[in-house]
Amino acid sequence: MEIDTLALRTGIHRSQFGEHSEAMYLTSSFVFENAAQAAERFTGGGEGNIYSRFTNPTVTAFQERLAALEGADACVATASGMSAILAMAMAMLKAGDHLICSASVFGSTVQLFSNVMGKFGVETTYVNGASVPAWEGALRANTRLLFLETPSNPLTEIADIAALAAVAKRAGALLAVDNCFCTPVLQRPLELGADLVIHSATKYLDGQGRVLGGAVLGARGPVMDGVFGFLRTAGPSLSPFNAWVLLKGLETLRIRMEAQSQAALQLAQWLERHPRIARVYYPGLPSHPQFCLAQKQQRLGGAVVAFEVKGGREEAWRVVDATRMISITANLGDTKSTITHPATTTHGRISAEARKAAGIGEGLLRVAVGLEALADIQADLDRGLNS
Ligand SMILES: *Cc1c(COP(=O)(O)O)cnc(C)c1O
Repeated sequence: MEIDTLALRTGIHRSQFGEHSEAMYLTSSFVFENAAQAAERFTGGGEGNIYSRFTNPTVTAFQERLAALEGADACVATASGMSAILAMAMAMLKAGDHLICSASVFGSTVQLFSNVMGKFGVETTYVNGASVPAWEGALRANTRLLFLETPSNPLTEIADIAALAAVAKRAGALLAVDNCFCTPVLQRPLELGADLVIHSATKYLDGQGRVLGGAVLGARGPVMDGVFGFLRTAGPSLSPFNAWVLLKGLETLRIRMEAQSQAALQLAQWLERHPRIARVYYPGLPSHPQFCLAQKQQRLGGAVVAFEVKGGREEAWRVVDATRMISITANLGDTKSTITHPATTTHGRISAEARKAAGIGEGLLRVAVGLEALADIQADLDRGLNS
């Protein structure tokens, strides 16, 4: 079936009431018919739920639907995107292992790998995600995992998933891709050879800024024996309420991603022509240094546009402060457009040299384009640009 159909029709298990919309099972535990059935469930023999830290029908429905969209054998849902990365790392790595991560990943991911995993004897090397030789050069005998986001945040650098999957395979390591920015609508990393896909469902999968959630997807072995095994013991499970919201979010994912990507492309083209803009970063523009790779790897450019305002911090802040509609928030993946100044928010805690090395200037702004009329988004940005 096509992705539109899968997003609506996968994971539906009607109850005896014959409900049309998916039911929400807000229950912490499940009852057994008798002692023998309870014993059977606990020994893992029988099908069925025991306790919602392990499994819950609404969470299972979300997992089945997302797995269908990503083309994955298995999916485990988690309480947030960060708990998805934690569960994946705890399941796949042990003390003495090494992992390689693209430098421009989500800030908390760096904290998790360096500070939390580092405390348990896992070492991380950060590389320029867009450079395949940089990944190869960082490999060690004990490298077990390659981890990346593509496009990167905020400069939209593209990592070559197929090439890096081959690098990981040769090294006997796994490749995990955080597919938050593209979602399966724009990019399906497993088809390109990645072993694991990570989601912060908080972003585009919900799509309307309501709940936290996450997921790890891939082959049955690593996901069920590894990640699910960690999760049912450690407990950062997805709540059934959040699973239900996400399940409904998936129903409109394709039309939202396409509409927001198309608006982002038009905004990027408009910004590129604007006399007050020095540079625009968007994978759907021919001026993007990896335009060809982006065209091959992604169906569309995504909804995040970064641009350099001429001048510096003062000029960039003026654009932010002149907005009356766009939300000033570092979050993204919402139907409401958001704007942020990375150098003083998401990337404010790293040193000025590290920021410069990462290419995040004082004039840089990032807009995550929502579903408002494009003309209103442009007018809101133009006010500050022309003041
Ligand atoms: C937000 C985000 C995360 C973390 O997700 P939470 O749901 O906030 O825990 C991870 N990766 C990327 C790319 C993100 O944007």
